[in-house]
Amino acid sequence: MDCVKSADAFERAKAVIPGGVNSPVRSFYAVGGLPRFIVKGKGSKIYDIDGNEYIDYVCSWGPLILGHCDERVISAVAKSVNGGLTFGAPTEGETKLAELICESFPSVEKVRLVNSGTEAVMSALRLARAYTGREKIIKCAGCYHGHVDNLLVQAGSGLASLGLPGSKGISVSQANQTVVVPYNDSQAVRSAFEKFAGQIAAIIVEPVAGNMGVVPPKGDYLAELRRICDDNDALLIFDEVITGFRIARGGAQELFGIRSDITILGKIIGGGMPVGAYGGRSEIMDLLAPLGQVYQAGTLSGNPIAVAAGIATIEKLNEQGVYNRLEKSAQRLEVGLLEAAERAGVKISINRVGSMLTIFFADGKIENYEDVAKADKEKYSRFFHLMLDGGIYLPPSAFESMFVSLAHSSEDIEFTIERAGKSFEQLRITG
Ligand SMILES: *Cc1c(COP(=O)(O)O)cnc(C)c1O
Repeated sequence: MDCVKSADAFERAKAVIPGGVNSPVRSFYAVGGLPRFIVKGKGSKIYDIDGNEYIDYVCSWGPLILGHCDERVISAVAKSVNGGLTFGAPTEGETKLAELICESFPSVEKVRLVNSGTEAVMSALRLARAYTGREKIIKCAGCYHGHVDNLLVQAGSGLASLGLPGSKGISVSQANQTVVVPYNDSQAVRSAFEKFAGQIAAIIVEPVAGNMGVVPPKGDYLAELRRICDDNDALLIFDEVITGFRIARGGAQELFGIRSDITILGKIIGGGMPVGAYGGRSEIMDLLAPLGQVYQAGTLSGNPIAVAAGIATIEKLNEQGVYNRLEKSAQRLEVGLLEAAERAGVKISINRVGSMLTIFFADGKIENYEDVAKADKEKYSRFFHLMLDGGIYLPPSAFESMFVSLAHSSEDIEFTIERAGKSFEQLRITG
């Protein structure tokens, strides 16, 4: 595979952009090798500047559930562009997108649009603190909620521990606002509420974890979180930036039948444009300015172009049978990959919920971050490069989700399984 142009482009980029990228994981730092510079996407495929074609399972890290360059989305965007890029005054499109979100998420009566998932999370935490009059937030080890200061934390030792800064530049006092517990462990959450009685504003959680690789909630974990929050007058925040409109129209809360107090959305609701959102009951949301005293604003929030892309995407997802199709494709991929690995004698474990899945090079169940951390990263990196050379673009990190889109055909899936079979063989030979 010829990659001279990408190599050249990366050198140029590194001279003027830290690490050559505007978001770290794009640099392939976790798997090594040369990131490919992309010029276009169409359907399930992306194309790099050297003319190589790949079946894409990153899909811009989740937003592109319809695949690349979907006609409906592109024409909605083109139409909107021709009417002007931004006004800083209300537009009806914003209301339309808000209506579509509220219809799909019964727990959301009102919603604010912002520009990214990170911004939505940051604002939702501010709102939760204002609503409860408390300071501390519980989060789970291995869950990611954007690069919000006090959530970029790592756990100390113990079941429920105060966070330590997980990045330079975050003050200890910020990190100390956060209590970290293991995912899928409701007892740890109970202990945290006992230890910090009367201080906890909210628990924020990915209802299906996607940022340590896919890790589904176990048993009645989400129902337990709901109960604990109710018992303690704290808010339950579901970060559905990945799962919203992905695993069901109404996200994890629809699939598992649990209502959150605040819901965070992003990715799919922008259809590939920068959008985030947070919403919940009116009683909570009406604390926001101009009605209430919680300030949050944005020059480009609810941008007309972004909103048009989001509406076109969600309208497509409202069609009958769409989620069934996603489930079928992703299920075939899961089964095919497991069979191929078994034939090659390579041990893998796959976690999948709907069209999001992760291949772990591990033996046995993966139920929390501790399990995830035991998987073989080095083996994944070799698998990643074998697949990339075979024309399959997987996430450049062992601990991310693959996404199947509506544009992935059964030929794409079968081709991927066949390539995976060869790659697993290769892994077994090289040990
Ligand atoms: C991607 C993501 C975010 C952050 O969204 P950005 O738009 O990248 O800021 C937050 N939470 C979850 C669960 C995500 O997957």
